[in-house]
Amino acid sequence: MELTKRQKQILQIVKDHAPITGEKIADMLNLTRATLRPDLAILTMAGFLDARPRVGYFYTGKTGSQLLTEKIKKIKVHDFQSVPVVIQESASVYDAITTMFLEDVGTLFIVDKHSKLAGVVSRKDLLRASIGQKDLDNIPVNIIMTRMPNIAVCYRDDHLIDVARRLIERQIDAMPVVKKVNDNGFEVIGRVTKTNITRALVDLAVDELI
Ligand code: ADP
Repeated sequence: MELTKRQKQILQIVKDHAPITGEKIADMLNLTRATLRPDLAILTMAGFLDARPRVGYFYTGKTGSQLLTEKIKKIKVHDFQSVPVVIQESASVYDAITTMFLEDVGTLFIVDKHSKLAGVVSRKDLLRASIGQKDLDNIPVNIIMTRMPNIAVCYRDDHLIDVARRLIERQIDAMPVVKKVNDNGFEVIGRVTKTNITRALVDLAVDELI
């Protein structure tokens, strides 16, 4: 967040005189309290200032980049996850390719007949399976998928930055968001892809209150 000249002046006054009331800051800047209110609200919401009722404003001492880091670390998977695209493990490679086009995704999650996570197929898995094969209708997707227990999964309350780190470490594009079901299996309730993480980054950049 770029601070305006007036916001910088306010920060300096609070640094030098804290705790100080909004009224006094306004006096020192020869402005009315009403004129100053939006700036004080922005600086407080962004975390530069701390406001205590009947005491006044304090300087938190946090820099813009510290506040941004704090904000990034707070983002959870459920803030940005998308709807998962899931197919049965008995479906064919041909079905998987069609689903990928129709749903416009790059990764499909494969479930068994109890709707539990069984595997993952990516674009390259399907390309590899298609090379030199004419009868894609007769190859079940579970032959070519990456299967459990080797699937990297995440939970809706995980931090998005940790998921991003794991996507990079594992060199994959997507992770299913899962919920544990009784007997050790996982139900797929969402997906996180590099696109979701890019969206989070863009949101942080356009958020005026960073
Ligand atoms: P692509 O290879 O199509 O660019 P990925 O990089 O996501 O897509 O996939 C690389 C390999 O990792 C593929 O074989 C895929 O089956 C596997 N894979 C994808 N997502 C996961 C995951 N969440 N856990 C484990 N393996 C995965």
